[in-house]
Amino acid sequence: MMNIVIFGAPGAGKGTQSDLLVKQYGLIHVSTGDLLRKEIAVQTELGKRIKSIMDSGSLVSDDIVVEMIDNAIAKDNYGMLFDGFPRNVAQAEVLDKLLAKHGRKLTCMVSLDVPREELIRRMLERAKVSGRSDDNEETIKNRLKEYEAKTKPVADYYESKGLQVKVNGMGSVESISTAIISEIDKRK
Ligand code: AMP
Repeated sequence: MMNIVIFGAPGAGKGTQSDLLVKQYGLIHVSTGDLLRKEIAVQTELGKRIKSIMDSGSLVSDDIVVEMIDNAIAKDNYGMLFDGFPRNVAQAEVLDKLLAKHGRKLTCMVSLDVPREELIRRMLERAKVSGRSDDNEETIKNRLKEYEAKTKPVADYYESKGLQVKVNGMGSVESISTAIISEIDKRK
């Protein structure tokens, strides 16, 4: 059973590539961003608490996302694709423990490399259709700041475990997908 993390800055194409990977390998797609947006859309107590944090582009607390991931792993007995999680080293350590608790381990972490100007361009482009309240110039800057400060060290965490697979995130959606699949197939 494969368990994969797709990693990269906001706007790197994690969501787009996740859709293709799910089709290719029959994985369950777990996007913490999507799960959190759903809580806001249906106005749960949790949704009300996290809306302003997400609108500012900051990370929500680890407890909230860890619980979501724990539930997702417990519920599905399939391989999983984690998208938008882990976002800091503490979350990466928790993921290892949660997977071990369920007798699983990580196959690899696929890291999409995209230059900053292109990330901003893509997010502003997406803003025209996504309806996401955090796809605006000011929030994008804070999301990239959070990424640099908290999320980027996650790459070193997986690198030190020999689990990081780096893929160039520039090019057509199809060519990037082909590159990712060929890397994953080497590690299956
Ligand atoms: P995303 O859809 O992955 O770009 O996430 C959108 C927003 O959801 C982020 O800017 C954070 O506010 C929040 N978020 C998503 N995943 C996490 C996570 N693993 N830890 C903390 N906050 C998260």
